[in-house]
Amino acid sequence: IRPIHVIGGGLAGSEAAWQIAGAGVPVVLHEMRPVRKTDAHQGEGLAELVCSNSFRSDDPEGNAVGLLHEELRRCDSLIMRAADVAKVPAGGALAVDRDVFSAEVQKVIEAHPLIELRREEIAGLPPAEWDNVIVATGPLTSPPLADAVRALTGEQSLAFFDAIAPIVHRDSIDMDKAWFQSRYDKVGPGGAGEQGEGADYINCPFEKPNYLEFHAALLAAEKTEFKDWEKNTPYFEGCLPIEVMAERGPRTLTFGPMKPVGLTDPRTGRKPYAVVQLRQDNKLGTLFNMVGFQTKMKYAEQTRVFRMIPGLENAQFARLGGIHRNTFLNSPKLLDSQLRLKAMPSLRFAGQVTGVEGYVESTAIGLLAGRMAAAQRLGSEQPAPPPTTALGALHTHITGGADAKHFQPMNVNFGLFPPLGTDVPRNERKPGLSRRALRDLATWLNGATAAAA
Ligand code: FAD
Repeated sequence: IRPIHVIGGGLAGSEAAWQIAGAGVPVVLHEMRPVRKTDAHQGEGLAELVCSNSFRSDDPEGNAVGLLHEELRRCDSLIMRAADVAKVPAGGALAVDRDVFSAEVQKVIEAHPLIELRREEIAGLPPAEWDNVIVATGPLTSPPLADAVRALTGEQSLAFFDAIAPIVHRDSIDMDKAWFQSRYDKVGPGGAGEQGEGADYINCPFEKPNYLEFHAALLAAEKTEFKDWEKNTPYFEGCLPIEVMAERGPRTLTFGPMKPVGLTDPRTGRKPYAVVQLRQDNKLGTLFNMVGFQTKMKYAEQTRVFRMIPGLENAQFARLGGIHRNTFLNSPKLLDSQLRLKAMPSLRFAGQVTGVEGYVESTAIGLLAGRMAAAQRLGSEQPAPPPTTALGALHTHITGGADAKHFQPMNVNFGLFPPLGTDVPRNERKPGLSRRALRDLATWLNGATAAAA
């Protein structure tokens, strides 16, 4: 059997190589460190954790990332196995000794008879004779490869920085204060709370005094600094951090993303002083994105300050905002459901570069890409996991569930899952989603085993 080539020995690439080898297919894993370094990695170990040593919550019933841990374990994930070996006490979270973790991954990869590890940079598109390649080069993909992918996919389709606005669970927005309306359109039929045709936005209204308080809070909030090597981040005028806009003067936001023109608050019958608009972020309609609110405020500050917005007092955030150096594809537009580049199907993508965010999410897409690539090499096809699983919810999001026009990196959260019926009480929803996910994952795994037999 001819080998599959995996470029990048980070979290996704190491997981992909392990899954491919586990299917009995040889793999060549190309990792550029230490020949060429990145700005964030310190050493040369495989699957180096570049920042925190935490894989976040390990609770499969209360947290979507905990559920993703459990699903990965059930899929025989190398990254989860190494994390469990390297585990250090961290309450309900899964945290690891980063050196033990990376050494464990490296030991297993180096010992596997079907995996060849080559320390080299792939500085451009891979040779044409590599017919089955996984690109898992991460948020700091080396420039020659990133430039080649950009030339292939188009200027707008590979970003070098993200500009993430917070995303809110729709069912945590107080629709007694907020209402659906697109600018210059009528309020949705049935008044506030009803979505009328063309009414794509949820609006949260401010009067002058509470706007001024909010503006002051934006200015005073603690911000995260850019890392030294991120300092030349190009702030595009179109996506300045909200607090940078606020610094230009108290009225700047009311003429910018918070402008109230064309909107009528159904409760007062007039135009508010300012608004925050939220736009639907996924096809399911469970998540809404705060338009123009990309920010460098610290996470705790974002939660505090954004809950000052009328209608968002009890907002649950599916993800908070951020701006980082981050190479990622517009996957909903560019990738097929097998994670292959439509423009060059011999290239499959995995990890953070596909527009997921986080160690565990990157691993998850590495696992799927590895299984899909191996199945293809063996003459079959690995179907995507059901969207009711955490693996499937993430996969669906990046291959079409997200809006390609405004695509920004996403972490796993329960808002990505098809909701349970409204008759399920609120406190039973997460455990219910989790049980459904693990049941559907078992069916999917059985199908995969049957196909392989
Ligand atoms: P990586 O783990 O970065 O692996 C990519 C690998 O590809 C690297 O080893 C790199 O050397 C190699 N490579 C790149 N280009 C080439 C090439 N041309 N040829 C050969 N090899 C190449 N996520 C969290 O969950 N928690 C955090 O605390 C966190 N902090 C982060 C901090 C920073 C500074 C950054 C940039 C990201 C952070 N992330 C964090 C996000 C993300 O989850 C991690 O970056 C994660 O490592 C992504 O996994 P990956 O496998 O996609 O990429």
